[in-house]
Amino acid sequence: MSFDAVVLGAGPAGYVCAIRLAQLGQKTAIVESKAIGGVCLNVGCIPSKALISASKLFKQIGHADVMGIRVGEPSLDVAKLVEWKDKIVDQLTGGVGHLLAKNGVEIVQGSGRVVEPRKVEVQSSSGIQVVEADNIVVATGSRPIEIPGFHFDGEQVWSSTDALSPKELPRRVLIIGGGYIGLELGFVYKNFGSEVRVVEALDRVLPNMDPELSKEMTKSLKKRKMPVHVGAKAQGYRETAEGLVVTVELNNGKTEEFTCDVILSSVGRSPNGGGLGLEELGVEVTDKGFIPVDPQRRTNISNIYAIGDVTGQPMLAHKGSAEGLVAAAAIAGDTGAAFDPAAIPLVVFTDPEIASVGLTEEEASAQGFEPVVGKFPFRASGRALSLNETDGWTKVIADKHTDKILGVHMIGPEVTELVAEPTLAIEMGATAEDLAMTIHAHPTLPETLMEAAENLHKKAVHILN
Ligand SMILES: Cc1cc2nc3c(=O)[nH]c(=O)nc-3n(C[C@H](O)[C@H](O)[C@H](O)COP(=O)(O)OP(=O)(O)OC[C@H]3O[C@@H](n4cnc5c(N)ncnc54)[C@H](O)[C@@H]3O)c2cc1C
Repeated sequence: MSFDAVVLGAGPAGYVCAIRLAQLGQKTAIVESKAIGGVCLNVGCIPSKALISASKLFKQIGHADVMGIRVGEPSLDVAKLVEWKDKIVDQLTGGVGHLLAKNGVEIVQGSGRVVEPRKVEVQSSSGIQVVEADNIVVATGSRPIEIPGFHFDGEQVWSSTDALSPKELPRRVLIIGGGYIGLELGFVYKNFGSEVRVVEALDRVLPNMDPELSKEMTKSLKKRKMPVHVGAKAQGYRETAEGLVVTVELNNGKTEEFTCDVILSSVGRSPNGGGLGLEELGVEVTDKGFIPVDPQRRTNISNIYAIGDVTGQPMLAHKGSAEGLVAAAAIAGDTGAAFDPAAIPLVVFTDPEIASVGLTEEEASAQGFEPVVGKFPFRASGRALSLNETDGWTKVIADKHTDKILGVHMIGPEVTELVAEPTLAIEMGATAEDLAMTIHAHPTLPETLMEAAENLHKKAVHILN
């Protein structure tokens, strides 16, 4: 089989790249060892968000009496929940398979290995197939990191994948890792009624985000009675009659034991850059397994490209898809194609939700800007009040001299949707004044962005500046 391009991995980076390649007239094949859609569609973004929506509804039903609605105590059918979630996954992955096929992309099932700069061997249960292509795009993604003492067994120690298909609701969950995946899944189990405890080795939850967001999230976890131990290290566990006893070294140097029914280990993800035959061909792969790339997503070998989680942080589906479009354009001959986004939004579907785009104040200062900050609380938003979700705020950071928006950080209702507006603003080089002067529909949550931008100039109307 001979192609213009072959893509290894059908996650959101790989399948988007393959479809765009086909749209640009390139004869394209895609090799996938597991399931079309990759981590994101099968065991990541989509199934986790399905469970989050269900758990939020479950919690809201339990609290509906504040609005005078009496429905009684909700109960959970775990098997039906997982079946519903699986149906969503099937619908989406089936849709992507259909799109690949209808665009003329050849789908090759099996595990690919690059044996020559223009040759991939695909191993499957039916043997080895050779795929030849002028260009190779590596989009093999990432896998959950296992830490010593906590081997994933799907029963006592869960990876995020296990947490998406529980057989029953565990009474007590201990989560190792206070990053976004651990917290999102923590809220799912908490909303459904489990006791949830979080152990994070660094000094704050969501360590990669704006420190004020971490602080606000810590308050929210406390309010929801989800104990968090920061600067703490889970060392191991043993099985007892009372449950799994996890030994944790706390930040004061003391060791404490916590009993739970299941441990969810969610300490980050490791790139799948190794073992693909790339190093043998002279493609640079870092010790950690990341593949360095140039703005066109080319590796140091000019016809081999890499996109998605395997190229580095941020490991996010939309970042991988955007890289996929650039690589496809470059392969099709667009010499101007380059991955240089002004802004990549980051969203966390906790309760309240979190969204960030652009620089934090510290990053802005480090880059030589003079950051000015405007903030607006959701408790002053009529829409937030009418939704009965008033926790959190919107923060806009702009440069003092140019007024250009540098970053927007939000915690509160629906902020994962609201972040689209400031992402566009940053992408287009808008100023805080642009945001403030844009007429926002009333009553809506994005008004908080307008008011935060106004606050930055000490002109917000609905709070004292
Ligand atoms: C629980 C969870 C929730 C998440 N939520 C979000 C979210 O809300 N938003 C967000 O943006 N991101 C989220 N992510 C991250 C997101 O899933 C990843 O960033 C994204 O899937 C990366 O896409 P990718 O195409 O680079 O790789 P992947 O999705 O990992 O796909 C790579 C594919 O390559 C295949 N493959 C690997 N090696 C080979 C080989 N040798 N031959 C053939 N095929 C191979 C794999 O089977 C896989 O299907 C979440 C992740 C998890 C685990």
